[in-house]
Amino acid sequence: MATGLTSKVTRGKLADMPETPPSHAQAPIDVFQKARDHERRELIDLARREDLIPYFRQVESEAGPVVRMEGQARLMLGSNNYLGLTGDPRVKGAARAALEQYGTGLTGSRLLNGTTPLHRELEEEIAAWLGTEDALVFTTGYQANVGCLSAILSPSDTVIADSGDHASILDGCKLSGARLRPFRHNRLDKLEQMLDRARGDGGGVLVVVDGVYSMEGDVCDVASVSQLCRAHGARLMVDEAHGVGVLGQNGSGACELFGVEGEVDLRMGTFSKSLASCGGFIAGSAEVIDYLRIASRAFLFSASAVPAAVAAALEAVRICRSAEGPALFARVLENARYLHSGLADLGYQVVEPTPVPAGEPVITPIVPVVIGDDLTTAQLWKALWDEGLYANVALYPAVPPGGSLIRTSVMATHEREHLDQALEIFERVKGRLPA
Ligand code: PMP
Repeated sequence: MATGLTSKVTRGKLADMPETPPSHAQAPIDVFQKARDHERRELIDLARREDLIPYFRQVESEAGPVVRMEGQARLMLGSNNYLGLTGDPRVKGAARAALEQYGTGLTGSRLLNGTTPLHRELEEEIAAWLGTEDALVFTTGYQANVGCLSAILSPSDTVIADSGDHASILDGCKLSGARLRPFRHNRLDKLEQMLDRARGDGGGVLVVVDGVYSMEGDVCDVASVSQLCRAHGARLMVDEAHGVGVLGQNGSGACELFGVEGEVDLRMGTFSKSLASCGGFIAGSAEVIDYLRIASRAFLFSASAVPAAVAAALEAVRICRSAEGPALFARVLENARYLHSGLADLGYQVVEPTPVPAGEPVITPIVPVVIGDDLTTAQLWKALWDEGLYANVALYPAVPPGGSLIRTSVMATHEREHLDQALEIFERVKGRLPA
């Protein structure tokens, strides 16, 4: 099969490109220079000297409420394993059975030797869960966004994206060459402005939002966004990475919670959070999914997920869709509410549950503590770590400049005692922070 590169060469496009004339005017610049003197170098060096680096810490056990990390038992408040299903015996059993039946890897693209019956079962199960005509499984969630957006958008189109959208959305938009019109996070007036402007752009228009924003844990009012899109003739795609397996009566995400499943054109999700595995999907109309099957380069030119990962995700989806699902969704959100109010009572600045026009403010399993300054955030993280608690740290560019935060997240499997212990630790370290 021709790769993108060889097919372009055979069509003469690369061969026809004029070669850049060599410049002998100055010594060539070392392309590795940026690795030596990038803007974060000083901060990283300082953090390293003080042992304040919160990243790449090693996990030595399962991602349960208490984990072993770097030789010590620690409370885990930094996992996206929202339903706690990575340790579920049924999920592990399904992964083990797939490993025995299909081996460790598929060694090829979905298009060729990389599709098993498990893939199709998973796609059918997802489509039935989300109420769409079809779904397509990708090797990672990142690839699902990049592969979908770069295939569906052309350079003549306009894509309107929330500034808080995940990096994989931005990367997919960039790769497509479409005109990108970002709008201020969750500001529907700004979205409307962009929709008005996009009318004059002359191409198709796609709006892309996250159902739940991954760092702050706030929610998009998908109903209002969908209404605006329909009024302006734009298509809508919602990233449900943190919504699937959590929000809505059936746990199918923010679109379900807002009652707009039938109105949203494309829904993306990952298996790397509630669904206890690794991989991603796009769900939508049969027409678009069929097109992605032959046009999405991240789908075509990357090896299929390993069978154990597909089987684990399939089992997790089945658990979510079983009678057990709603109790799990309720439990994780109850834990989020408990931790949220405990942290607020201690005087920490927590992100408030998102107010929505109709109904209760929406809480999610992501409960961030906003600190603002990078160094203070790293110091707080280290104090928590030393007390035996692991949480995630989000610094710019994962959050806006000056918006550094400790991203705590809860699981359905956290017991009250775990959360109480976590709150005690937060209370103890509070006094050590600069005022
Ligand atoms: N979208 C969002 C909103 C995410 O938070 C993530 C992962 N953090 C992704 C997409 C990418 O998914 P994955 O990690 O499964 O590749």
